[in-house]
Amino acid sequence: MVDFGFGLVPSSRINLDLFDREKYDKLTAIEPDARICISCGSCTAVCTAGQFAHTSLREALDDILNANPDKALESLRSCQLCGKCAMVCPRGINTRHLILSIIKVYSGE
Ligand code: SF4
Ligand code: SF4
Repeated sequence: MVDFGFGLVPSSRINLDLFDREKYDKLTAIEPDARICISCGSCTAVCTAGQFAHTSLREALDDILNANPDKALESLRSCQLCGKCAMVCPRGINTRHLILSIIKVYSGE
């Protein structure tokens, strides 16, 4: 097999029929910015915790839309709330607030 130096990642296509719309509406009511993420991955690229553990806001948002909130919570569990991701987000999302809101809505804390 030829090594091209890169691999294909699984599709991140979202099936809107699967996810929990009630909870998502609850999240976006307190955090409308959840709707404007463009999944660019800048937050994940600079993540402080990501150097030591699997931490990804981009993945967490995709997991929520793919009806996998437990995986989303797992992705955010090691977040240190340092705010580096907020500094690079091209959409100007208050990422720390968004992370806390995701945890609040989906873990019931
Ligand atoms: S606030 Fe959390 S998700 Fe954002 S860069 Fe810091 S550790 Fe990573
Ligand atoms: S940097 Fe902002 S727009 Fe890009 S994936 Fe993260 S939250 Fe979404």
